[in-house]
Amino acid sequence: MTDLADTEIYDVIIVGAASAGLSAAIYTSRQQMRTLIISKDIGGQALLTNDIQNYPGFMNIGGFELMNKFQEQARAYGTEFLYDEVKSIEKVGDNFSVGTTSGRFSALSLILAFGKTPRDLGVPGEEKLKGRGVSYCAVCDGPLFKGKKVAVVGIGDQAYEAVNYLSNVVGELLLIHKPPKLTAGGEIISGMIESKRVNFLPSTEVVSINGDKRVESITLKSSGGKTWDEKLDGIFVEIGYIAKSDFVKGIVNLNSKEEIITNLDGTTSTAGIFSCGDITQIPYKQAVISAGMGATAALSAYNYVQAKKGLTASKSDWKTIKARN
Ligand SMILES: Cc1cc2nc3c(=O)[nH]c(=O)nc-3n(C[C@H](O)[C@H](O)[C@H](O)COP(=O)(O)OP(=O)(O)OC[C@H]3O[C@@H](n4cnc5c(N)ncnc54)[C@H](O)[C@@H]3O)c2cc1C
Repeated sequence: MTDLADTEIYDVIIVGAASAGLSAAIYTSRQQMRTLIISKDIGGQALLTNDIQNYPGFMNIGGFELMNKFQEQARAYGTEFLYDEVKSIEKVGDNFSVGTTSGRFSALSLILAFGKTPRDLGVPGEEKLKGRGVSYCAVCDGPLFKGKKVAVVGIGDQAYEAVNYLSNVVGELLLIHKPPKLTAGGEIISGMIESKRVNFLPSTEVVSINGDKRVESITLKSSGGKTWDEKLDGIFVEIGYIAKSDFVKGIVNLNSKEEIITNLDGTTSTAGIFSCGDITQIPYKQAVISAGMGATAALSAYNYVQAKKGLTASKSDWKTIKARN
């Protein structure tokens, strides 16, 4: 059990610094809540695309650039940032203790905005070679493979975006997937296959990723049972995203997809814990939706903390009330 008695307490700790968490931070710190945001990176999934065309206010903006703008705004209002991974959350009396790889941090309230994490292929060699040729982000890591031979594994828009991007960067590109045909969204890729920019290996699965210090080859298996090794420098796993919410199990209620069950006002099953964005059960996973949910969760957290401190009206309301009197 953690003792919070002598530790510094934040008004709110936000887990995850992407569309949802950064928007929440803009709101909480602007309300003068002492805000700490803990995240493995800045930007989350938005970093995986160079081309966001549906975020209001921008006809077209790269995910990195958009997330930078969010971060700048949160920082300007006083949000503190910690690059770290949250490993555990404990309820200590009425407050919360957040455990990371570097220490423990305490808060009166929490906002869980840790989104979704790339799904692993689950083959031998993958874990050992992560970051050494095994990547889950074409836009982030593609430039490291300039002129080299790489494979993309996956089907669907995420894999197609990766192929589209990498085809302009790498020397040789394979697209590997288990189903025999491309899905409906693959017209652009069909054109690339015809023009020989992409070598397509349908009905094929990756059996293992091989290499000592870096990826050297992958072992493939066709639906007919033939296996062979393909020498290459990198492999991009683009097979979707999952909720990795093990560390909040038993703290807040989750649905069957391990998403946090959240009410319209961002509250969860535990008083003082709020949630927003892709990690929740909302049906449409989009940056603008996550941002809106972040604002909602932040305002609910603000009202919760105000009530906890015995102050019921919002600070802007206080100013108006004071000005009137
Ligand atoms: C290829 C691609 C293209 C897309 N294109 C668009 C688009 O054009 N328009 C659009 O609106 N949306 C698009 N999206 C969807 C959009 O990116 C997501 O809906 C949005 O990023 C969700 O934001 P989020 O903050 O909820 O979570 P995420 O973006 O998933 O971010 C979660 C954050 O939490 C951090 N985190 C996770 N676990 C921990 C932990 N244990 N400890 C600390 N930190 C943690 C992560 O590092 C990350 O910073 C796209 C997504 C992808 C993958």
